[in-house]
Amino acid sequence: MSATSDVSHAQPLRPVIETSIFDLFKCGPGPSSSHTIAPMKAAVDFSGLCTALLPEEAARARRVEVRLFGSLSATGKGHGTPAAILAGLMGHEPAACPPGLLQCLQMTPDREYALHYAGNAVSISMSSVIHDDVGHDFPYSNTMHMSLLDENGANLVHREYYSVGGGFVQWKGWSPPERGKPVYPYDSMRKLREWLHQSGLSLHELILENESAITGCSRPAIFARLDEIMGAMENSVQRGLDADGELPGSLNVARKAKTLLANVSRVPHAVDRFLGKVDAYAFAAAEENAAGGVIVTAPTCGSAGVMPSLLHAMLKDLDIGARAVREGLLASVVVGFLAKHNASIAGAEMGCQGEVGVASAMAAAMLAHARGNAVEIVENAAEIALEHHLGLTCDPVGGYVQIPCIERNAVGAIKAYNACLLATCEDVTKHRVSLDASIRAMADTGCKMSVKLKETSQGGLAVSMVEC
Ligand code: SF4
Repeated sequence: MSATSDVSHAQPLRPVIETSIFDLFKCGPGPSSSHTIAPMKAAVDFSGLCTALLPEEAARARRVEVRLFGSLSATGKGHGTPAAILAGLMGHEPAACPPGLLQCLQMTPDREYALHYAGNAVSISMSSVIHDDVGHDFPYSNTMHMSLLDENGANLVHREYYSVGGGFVQWKGWSPPERGKPVYPYDSMRKLREWLHQSGLSLHELILENESAITGCSRPAIFARLDEIMGAMENSVQRGLDADGELPGSLNVARKAKTLLANVSRVPHAVDRFLGKVDAYAFAAAEENAAGGVIVTAPTCGSAGVMPSLLHAMLKDLDIGARAVREGLLASVVVGFLAKHNASIAGAEMGCQGEVGVASAMAAAMLAHARGNAVEIVENAAEIALEHHLGLTCDPVGGYVQIPCIERNAVGAIKAYNACLLATCEDVTKHRVSLDASIRAMADTGCKMSVKLKETSQGGLAVSMVEC
């Protein structure tokens, strides 16, 4: 069976979650965590391997070749994958990528650049990145082969990388980095609830305890990084609200966030005004992502408008203080961790249910927790949001993260708000579906979903909408 039609893992999953908050929330250039940030990180890693060559080995190097497989091959061009790989090979880390670098590289596709390995120069260009088979039998859909070749085409350095969703990278033979053990180990919401009841901790306190144990970071250091993440989310919304014009690519999609916000102020009803603002904020951050601006993976680039939208609304429109929002952000990571651990957050494996669906569930949990609700209500809010994204396919038109992605972020943000409202107003004891069950359903649905509907632009809106 082809791995492109199944959820499969190169390595057995760890029995408990040991992911750091800052593995999940990362700053980097859009438009795609799987197709931009992860390939860039892989290229930085590959560059490190090449730089470590002995001078006599490096002297034999003639060229770098990168082969893209799976959805990376199908939609990598629209997602800016070749430019991200070039930038990574030049040593640019996603979080420190100069603004506009990827667009600049894309605008000069024939230009050659020199890479220096142990005193030897090797030239690369966009044509060094080859779009190979979409269907394959590698363990992950999004696979990359990076090779440094000699004059006979023999490998001097070679590594098979996997972009496994949300900007996470693994490779053949990869093993998880050694980390501290969580104080409260869990692999399900059910187990986490047990720990919360036993310990008497709040959800955000438990996550903080685990984060300190896993990473060795102090609480002030974690808070400082969380504040950076919140700031980056806020910036992505504000930049998007300030921007005009069209997004990059052949679809000629106009930015809408600024107009949406201006028009919503004329709507007579306060409720409509609030929902309209949430829409505008989500458009703003998602448009920034589509334009290749720096955003936060939450949990992915494609879904980078959902959490910032609600976070911005909580601070500006719902009068929720920054401390409560930060605690809500901490609670939201549980949903991302569980979705990644027990299913996947890659559009290439789960469809959009794993991206905007998970983002919506995280946002619902953030709002519910920040408003001081019990963990059962926080869980139900996340579950409702995820449940009503189940089956959502990934069919980006033209391979760009624009249609349906941008609008979908706004719908995901509103769904998150509604899910929180439903969970808050219902009788909590009557809620029948657990978050674990919803995540299992997402994994099962993702397994059964056609590969044509998982970030390959071979089905759905990507083929029904004719580009003009
Ligand atoms: S449709 Fe969803 S999963 Fe696919 S690229 Fe767009 S945002 Fe990502």
